[in-house]
Amino acid sequence: MDIQNLLDDIVGSVQPLTGQGAVADYIPSLGSVRRDQFGISLATGTGDVYSSGDADVPFSIQSISKVFALALVLARDGDSIWKRVFREPSGNPFNSLVQLEQEDGIPRNPFINAGAIVVTDRLLSISANSPSAVRELLRKESGNDSIDTDADVAISEAQHGHRNASLAHFLASYGNLENPVDSVLDAYINQCALAMSCTDLALASRFLATNGLRSDGTPLLSPPQTKRINAVMLTCGTYDAAGEFAYRVGLPGKSGVGGGIVAVVPNNCTICVWSPGLGRSGNSLAGVAALDEFTSRTGWSIF
Ligand code: GLU
Repeated sequence: MDIQNLLDDIVGSVQPLTGQGAVADYIPSLGSVRRDQFGISLATGTGDVYSSGDADVPFSIQSISKVFALALVLARDGDSIWKRVFREPSGNPFNSLVQLEQEDGIPRNPFINAGAIVVTDRLLSISANSPSAVRELLRKESGNDSIDTDADVAISEAQHGHRNASLAHFLASYGNLENPVDSVLDAYINQCALAMSCTDLALASRFLATNGLRSDGTPLLSPPQTKRINAVMLTCGTYDAAGEFAYRVGLPGKSGVGGGIVAVVPNNCTICVWSPGLGRSGNSLAGVAALDEFTSRTGWSIF
């Protein structure tokens, strides 16, 4: 298969969708990103990269960071995080407060904000309170040492992060945080505000397609742990549209409100797409269409 040709084709066919949809302006600095951009990169387990469009333009990874935080916590703690976070789809918006109260302070899954705040809290505890554990993993696995938090985005989110602050205080009131609310929020915001390109993200997420092996061949996760992260991505990784994403794309995936989506073809490759215009559920419109076309044409879906 001529992968390069395929990616170039996909860039052409999603072009009418780029520029459509809404940008996530509840974080004001994301509201100024140009919507008419689209990038796609594919990284094989052995580190070959194919890319097309705006694949090397850095964007705000936002919720995609939640996958890497979870991987680090599972790698260190094993299953004990599941006492503090469930792993079922929530059926509610990613920043909802209601379910957290109904379910006594245990978030539905690690990819809604409440769940990611708990995972980030644990990550802080196991990484000697360093707020940059996710950044270090991403730098190492992508081979790009210049990956960093976009300070404007982080400040913007901190200034408008009342819901996340509410969720964190709620979690603390149920005894489900180990660290001070402010430190946890700071680490969470900093990892969401990391700026990376499609190529960086496709490379950095390869361990999800290699049974947990890092780029240097050492294990980050065991094969069963890798299977489980991919499963949670499939069921909970794309907001309230995980069913629609499975139907159209048929791969584990994690999206972010910056317009990026990482998808995993287990034992084969990772793909990252990015286009800032979001559909109603918060997933990139052109990004989902591109992945739909990719799996339809290659047959590389898990179904
Ligand atoms: N930092 C964003 C928030 O907490 C992440 C949202 C997302 O990408 O789903 O609202």
